[in-house]
Amino acid sequence: MSTVAFIGLGNMGLPMAVNLLHKGFHVRAFDLVPEAVAALEAKGAVACRSAIDAATGADVVVSMLPSGKHSRALYLGDSDTTGLLQTVSEDTLLIDCSTIDAATAKEVSLAAEAKGFDFVDAPVSGGTAGAAAGTLTFICGGNVAAVERAKIVLNAMGSTIFHAGGPGCGQTAKICNNMLLSILMAGTSEALSLGIDNGLDPAVLSDIMKASSGANWALDKYNPCPGVMVSVPSSNGYQGGFMVDLMVKDLGLSQETAQKSRSSIPMGALAQALFVSHGRKGNGRRDFSSIFELFSNKQT
Ligand code: NAD
Repeated sequence: MSTVAFIGLGNMGLPMAVNLLHKGFHVRAFDLVPEAVAALEAKGAVACRSAIDAATGADVVVSMLPSGKHSRALYLGDSDTTGLLQTVSEDTLLIDCSTIDAATAKEVSLAAEAKGFDFVDAPVSGGTAGAAAGTLTFICGGNVAAVERAKIVLNAMGSTIFHAGGPGCGQTAKICNNMLLSILMAGTSEALSLGIDNGLDPAVLSDIMKASSGANWALDKYNPCPGVMVSVPSSNGYQGGFMVDLMVKDLGLSQETAQKSRSSIPMGALAQALFVSHGRKGNGRRDFSSIFELFSNKQT
């Protein structure tokens, strides 16, 4: 079985890398946080001192980093680090699963292709639960041959693979999805709070809306009201999951994308304002479903 260098072992990367180990891949792991590397080492990975160390001799590199500047530095290098494109053999398949701006994804992908690498931008949907269960959706951008080659690794971490188009297209599709998710999470929080303020049980109201025309992913899989659903961040003090800061990043990307295409996205702009304001009140590192507290009378 091939060797995968996994770079970025946070809320998403760690469970994704664990699934690779479970499926028989050899994993060489690196993260800036030594505890994250140690956690994967305990599951059978080889702990590495740097991204270059992890990628040396690997057949595939998978990165799961916070934003475009991290992905760019990893592959192209910056003033502090040498990029992987300068250091690893060009038969290494490169897969960036981070959610980043499409322009950076395209720049890195084209630079990689020019050096003879296969590069795929493969942001994911499905959250930390999907990462742990190995049921993520991968939304790929890149040439057909590169995406085909990536499937054996992606199938070990997810259940659905889309090919959205050429380099950067995976990121554009992901940004559209996350803008919609932010709108649905804020709207679901608002509707639940209106019901609670008027005497409804949020669990009963959730069941009613799930079976009615308001049904959506937030209600179905990620209820933002504490106590309605077990094993979701709202029932765990909004810890883990998808940080408000990362949603704010994605909403900024949707605004940048809309400016370039002169698209009108007023709902996205409103969601951005809500999540920015919520994040600035000390909620940046909490799960994004904590936006519920913006509408709720009761502080949880
Ligand atoms: P996270 O902050 O939990 O993890 C990021 C990890 O990258 C951290 O452990 C950090 O130490 C590490 N890191 C940062 N710079 C690094 C570097 N130069 N070298 C090595 N490691 C480095 O974030 P996350 O929630 O795991 O999200 C990762 C990506 O996945 C983001 O782009 C996010 O938008 C996207 N995403 C997250 C979710 C979710 O539900 N959390 C869902 C879909 C997509």
